[in-house]
Amino acid sequence: MTDKQNAPSLRSCFDFFDNNNQHLCTYLDSAASTQKLSAALDYTDAFARHQYASVHRSAYTIASAATARYEEARKSLARFINANSDDIVFTSGATESINMIAKGLSQSMLNGSTILIVQSEHHANILPWQALAEAFSLNIKVLPLAENGVFNEQTHAHWLNEINDDVAILACAHVSNVLGNIYPVASLCKKAQEHNAISVIDGTQAVAHIKTDVAALHCDFYVFSGHKMYGPTGIGVCWGRAVMLEKLRPSKLGGEMVQAVSFEAYTAVAPPLKFEAGTPNIMGALGLAQACDFLAQHLHDIERQEAALYRHLCHKMQAIHEITMLGNESASIGIVSFYAPNADNHSLALKLYQKGIALRFGQHCAMPLLSSMGISACLRVSLGCYNNREDVDTFVSALKEALADSA
Ligand code: PLP
Repeated sequence: MTDKQNAPSLRSCFDFFDNNNQHLCTYLDSAASTQKLSAALDYTDAFARHQYASVHRSAYTIASAATARYEEARKSLARFINANSDDIVFTSGATESINMIAKGLSQSMLNGSTILIVQSEHHANILPWQALAEAFSLNIKVLPLAENGVFNEQTHAHWLNEINDDVAILACAHVSNVLGNIYPVASLCKKAQEHNAISVIDGTQAVAHIKTDVAALHCDFYVFSGHKMYGPTGIGVCWGRAVMLEKLRPSKLGGEMVQAVSFEAYTAVAPPLKFEAGTPNIMGALGLAQACDFLAQHLHDIERQEAALYRHLCHKMQAIHEITMLGNESASIGIVSFYAPNADNHSLALKLYQKGIALRFGQHCAMPLLSSMGISACLRVSLGCYNNREDVDTFVSALKEALADSA
């Protein structure tokens, strides 16, 4: 099947793109948040309307059924990333997942004094490490990229070389939210493992686009958010290697994560519930599982379709000489960030909004990366499984017009 033939069938799985919505915009902002899978909305709506009960609390019929569905959802997530379901913790998203890890680590788990952070990390994979560095007197060292955010063989060799016995933590995205670069996390995490460093991989921009197998990545933690993979907002996952989850302290305390409580102390239950204090986001978990099942079924086609569309997008954008494109062209998912060195990029973005293009302008929660490239903001277009060539062509025409207006 060609990407053109394939696109309509997946597009039709999203009510957002039905005929009534066609006037809204050309949606090219999936890296910020994806449109919602209709099947996930229908499923959670039916559950909330007709079968709702809380989970892990009571044994009456609908409560047991709700608990079973919630735990089935955990199993779907585990299958999706080739993990054991006991190692899947539901969180509110990647941000909470990384905070959960950083706050839960104790000094005895850290075998070194350096935290390595990739230059393109999202603030969510920087700030929690700053807090940990302060708490345990660790140093932060940045793993740099080449010019314009490019990751190449030299960069890879340099990063590997920086992983040594002094490294306590390696914090790296599987895919950069600004550059689209896919980083070779398996080789980085393997090296980290050899040096007893804990590897934390932010898979937020990866899981909806490339097959993820945590067992093959050699990482210790892998986190992601539901709303960037066609699922609901307010739900995400922190996968941790069982031995890590055993040792990690729960930073969120309260109901249902305990075996016994007195006014002086508590004993926690085993993971994953040890990390899920309070009533969880039940509908979020169910909706996310629906999105995972959809992705598991279509990911092979999605990878091919998005790769073809990305090539088309790059080809068309490379012909526009007024812009500078950032990041890798190969080993990348369908994200293109760019700026026009001789134009006011904010007004360029506003012109594109006015022309109905939904893209993102700004720092993309990656200020250190933008500073390293000597820019204060850039525009970003990002593809999802529902985009087609018409979307790309509409965007490129609008960009050419907006640039001409700005000249
Ligand atoms: N990590 C990456 C790479 C992201 O792109 C994002 C969101 O933009 C996050 C983490 C934070 O995700 P959330 O806001 O869903 O917690």
